[in-house]
Amino acid sequence: MRIGIIGGGPGGSVAAATFRRLGHEVHLFEAEVFPRFHIGESLLPCNLPIYEGIGLPASALAAQGYMPKLAAYFELVNHNKTCRFPFADGLAGDPPSIFQVERSHFDHVLLKHAVSLGAKLYCPVRVVKVDLPEKAGVCPVIHHDDGTPGKDVALEVDFIVDASGRDTFIGRQLGIVDREGDLMRAAVYGHVAALPLAPNAQRGDIVISKCPAGWSWQIPLTDTKWSVGLVLKRDEVIKGGTPADVFRANLTHFPELKGRLNGQVPDPVRSTPNISYRVRERVGHRWALIGDAGGFIDPIFSSGVLLATRAGWRLGNALHKLGADGDLSEWKGQTDHDLATFFSFIRLWYDGHFIDNLFFSDNREPSIYQGIISLLAGNTTNLDNKFLAMLNRRMLANKTKTLILN
Ligand SMILES: Cc1cc2nc3c(=O)[nH]c(=O)nc-3n(C[C@H](O)[C@H](O)[C@H](O)COP(=O)(O)OP(=O)(O)OC[C@H]3O[C@@H](n4cnc5c(N)ncnc54)[C@H](O)[C@@H]3O)c2cc1C
Repeated sequence: MRIGIIGGGPGGSVAAATFRRLGHEVHLFEAEVFPRFHIGESLLPCNLPIYEGIGLPASALAAQGYMPKLAAYFELVNHNKTCRFPFADGLAGDPPSIFQVERSHFDHVLLKHAVSLGAKLYCPVRVVKVDLPEKAGVCPVIHHDDGTPGKDVALEVDFIVDASGRDTFIGRQLGIVDREGDLMRAAVYGHVAALPLAPNAQRGDIVISKCPAGWSWQIPLTDTKWSVGLVLKRDEVIKGGTPADVFRANLTHFPELKGRLNGQVPDPVRSTPNISYRVRERVGHRWALIGDAGGFIDPIFSSGVLLATRAGWRLGNALHKLGADGDLSEWKGQTDHDLATFFSFIRLWYDGHFIDNLFFSDNREPSIYQGIISLLAGNTTNLDNKFLAMLNRRMLANKTKTLILN
């Protein structure tokens, strides 16, 4: 099959590598010159088997010098309450660690890997239009600018994978993106020099702080560079002036982080003014959307890169088996389940004090503790996970799937 992929982020690169390893022809379009900045630096352990599956084992990633991530750490602002979830304490079979990565470097590693497997890279080349067929047997066409704005070069392929991230290329062309997302959050963020560890945290931990105004992250990328960010109500960010103004003004909500920053402010401070959005269809005739191109909710549990790469990996395997006109409903069902599971977990985070009692309690039931860790590692399908079973019940009761996916 001839596969056209829009976007060379983690979703697009992993899809490209998967298709190449299965012997298909891959045309991969990326509009930006790499390395380029990207937010989304904390990976989940369940990413590892996917990278291994495309020929990048943990040893190859460790050789890049990335910071090992062994646990997720949470603190309740102003309450002196913290909890640490080491991945090694999760359910049997889940990988015990992963990495924190500077995305400019990591995305480039994945992209170069896809090219080394034989994907044909068009870069910097922007896809400007796609012709999507309505009946079986007709091929879609990708129109791209060949690196020259205004130019239109057409390429026929058998299947189009949209991995264009928050640009939601096909979603926008078809007019099926709802930007008024469910949670109405925005983020301001950037890089700073080394920070002191939070109490009882360990080197490499992601630190998430929760308060009524929102939440913040601290991610050690190296021993001298950290990523920090605040996730706030969207109105606060839109009305608050420049991203740096918003960052400075809202640090008051996070006194522990403020203390650790000790006057540091990222330079530059970047912002994502509307985090969540929904795309009403994620698969059509000879096209599919993976990763952020298919919708995004909230980055609280660092699930974005995992969901993008897992969807790309599964899509490669499904199309290899079924062919370009195959029925992708099983793939869609798995992808919907992943999204809905994290959506439910995220709703729990924002729902009053439920998560405070669950995360920061001293007498948690051990099976629930293990189950939380397994989901924090990215395992959305373990039938032995009691916490997941509880979330699934909530999903059914709240019709979460309908809310996010239809
Ligand atoms: C504030 C914030 C914090 C986050 N933190 C985390 C985190 O800690 N961990 C985590 O896993 N995720 C996190 N995420 C989510 C993460 O950033 C994304 O889920 C992830 O990057 C999605 O990967 P992707 O491959 O789908 O898209 P992207 O990585 O965005 O890649 C899309 C690529 O497509 C290219 N492109 C777009 N349009 C075109 C076009 N027309 N033609 C050619 N190329 C095109 C772009 O240049 C880009 O390189 C965070 C997100 C936000 C907003």
